[in-house]
Amino acid sequence: MKYLIIADIHSNLEAFQSVLDDAKNYGGFERVWCLGDVVGYGPDPSACIKLLMGLDPLCVSGNHDQAAVGKIDIGDFNSEAARANRWTAGQLSEDDRDYLLALPEKLVQDDFTLVHGSPRMPVWEYIAHAFTAADNFGYFDTPYCLVGHTHVPFLFEQEDSTVKESYLTDGDILMPAGKRLIINPGGVGQPRDRDPRAAYVIYNSEDGIIHHHRVSYEIGLTQDKMEAAGLPEFLVSRLGWGV
Ligand code: ZN
Repeated sequence: MKYLIIADIHSNLEAFQSVLDDAKNYGGFERVWCLGDVVGYGPDPSACIKLLMGLDPLCVSGNHDQAAVGKIDIGDFNSEAARANRWTAGQLSEDDRDYLLALPEKLVQDDFTLVHGSPRMPVWEYIAHAFTAADNFGYFDTPYCLVGHTHVPFLFEQEDSTVKESYLTDGDILMPAGKRLIINPGGVGQPRDRDPRAAYVIYNSEDGIIHHHRVSYEIGLTQDKMEAAGLPEFLVSRLGWGV
């Protein structure tokens, strides 16, 4: 079975569609696992939710998804994120709201635990370093945990009491036998590792291979839509910088 693993779409329809097209060209996928932050920041929240729903994914909720439907307070957001989130909330249909409201914070499927932030704090905690990953291996029971939230593709591998971290670049990785892993596929709609291309992972359960890939998309088109919507200038610019 091939699984498309995506995170942090962030209302970026062009990036999301490019990922789907690229993954189909690469050999396709049968299931979609989405690690939250479907909305927030970008100009197409409703269209992204609709496209995602059509894929019948397993999806967990992120902080932006929860804030857009009033489940959490935007008091913890920086001012640009809060502004974009208020705009997003005003764009959602009743169906969009229902979909976001129903998303769970954590899902367990086969050998995988799915969360947005971390298994310890599914909505808010960032796993950006090996020491945070090390703390989190005690908070899930499956061999593998999938996370998003940092918008940076990483693999954390538990080795006895230490954790090895590797930044994911394009290519295939054979899942190490008997090792527990925390995997971040990177961000679809707002990458933050100075590579503005959308990121995704395909996991093939038959051969145990994780394929990580980056794909270009029409950033200028997304930026034009953001400007037309009056979204904060920094959020427009950062898409081009990949930060
Ligand atoms: Zn995010």
